[in-house]
Amino acid sequence: MKLSENIPISNLTTMRIGGNARYVVEVHNLPELKEAYDFAKNKSLPTWMMGDGANTIGRDEGFPGLVIINCFKGIEILSQTADEVVIRAMGGENWDDFVAFATERGYSGIETLSSIPGTVGAAPVQNIGAYGQDISHVIESVSAYDTQTDELVVIGKEDMNMSYRSTIFNTGKDAGRYFITAVTFVLENESSLQPPFYNSLQKYLDEHNITDYSPASIRTAVMAIRAEKLPDPAVIPSAGSFFKNIYLSYEDAEKAEEKGIKIHTKSDGQKMISAGYLLEQAGLKGQIFHGFRISEKAALILINESGKSYADLAKARTEITDIVYEKFGYKLEQEPVELIAK
Ligand SMILES: Cc1cc2nc3c(=O)[nH]c(=O)nc-3n(C[C@H](O)[C@H](O)[C@H](O)COP(=O)(O)OP(=O)(O)OC[C@H]3O[C@@H](n4cnc5c(N)ncnc54)[C@H](O)[C@@H]3O)c2cc1C
Repeated sequence: MKLSENIPISNLTTMRIGGNARYVVEVHNLPELKEAYDFAKNKSLPTWMMGDGANTIGRDEGFPGLVIINCFKGIEILSQTADEVVIRAMGGENWDDFVAFATERGYSGIETLSSIPGTVGAAPVQNIGAYGQDISHVIESVSAYDTQTDELVVIGKEDMNMSYRSTIFNTGKDAGRYFITAVTFVLENESSLQPPFYNSLQKYLDEHNITDYSPASIRTAVMAIRAEKLPDPAVIPSAGSFFKNIYLSYEDAEKAEEKGIKIHTKSDGQKMISAGYLLEQAGLKGQIFHGFRISEKAALILINESGKSYADLAKARTEITDIVYEKFGYKLEQEPVELIAK
């Protein structure tokens, strides 16, 4: 096991803030993962599961324990029928490389999730989603190391309690319990996606006269839309969407609509207010708070332009959420998780 010591969390996360992690280790297989947890247990250290840090925020005080980075690699087709293909991807694979692997072969189900930064292992944690798809529709199971029993377990989708940005992996009593080593997906051999697509995707397809809805074609369109609107984490620090959209009961949605607030109805009937819309309506698009700018192109994205610390970010967050609350009466919730000892 190759331990690194006193590593800035700002170097491990795409928002690029945060003090030092006491220890960091990259794990490539189960024996290394077990060794890492044994080391932490023997030294009574807290542990943290890490992928590419695209949804993780470091704190100024750092982290007094062991950050375990998932570097399990490999993608394998497990079985195939006339309609479906079952694929297992290891947790340390880059998510977008996996989407490329699938779409290049014509497999459908994750093409609108192209260009989402991060690892395969972190994808189920907050049930990643974009442009009308999320992975709850295609995930079959995960293999995970259970840090309570030190055993490798398989957890089926039915036990993951997946909803918008929420699963058993990040919510409730088992949050942070399972280190996901591999994810098994069931994809379709042929795309069943048909128009109308999610608004911005449909607009792009119409404007470019695209009527080929194959996985590769949709992937290309999504990549183009995202490249135009979203910051590349390798160049511009951010954690993607900084606030969560707001889901409402039918009754509350009606009341909001009466007040003139735009309500989206999702394909499953759920009512939602886009947090980006509230930020835009509050006149915050493009504004900078303590070095953190609300993106001019996509208001949900908070870009770290010159923010130096978590303290700066916390001040920015308070000011932004207060403005939105005063104007609309909704308290925005942060999407990225904070790296803290539990
Ligand atoms: C520019 C940008 C755009 C983005 N766009 C989207 C988007 O469209 N849709 C979307 O859903 N998200 C989006 N995100 C957020 C992010 O890409 C996803 O949350 C992604 O899944 C994070 O992967 P990661 O490997 O970087 O996770 P990390 O940030 O390393 O970890 C995130 C969480 O998962 C836990 N975790 C990490 N690995 C494991 C593991 N192996 N087992 C168990 N728990 C683990 C961590 O402890 C942490 O709680 C965006 C982020 C950026 C920077």
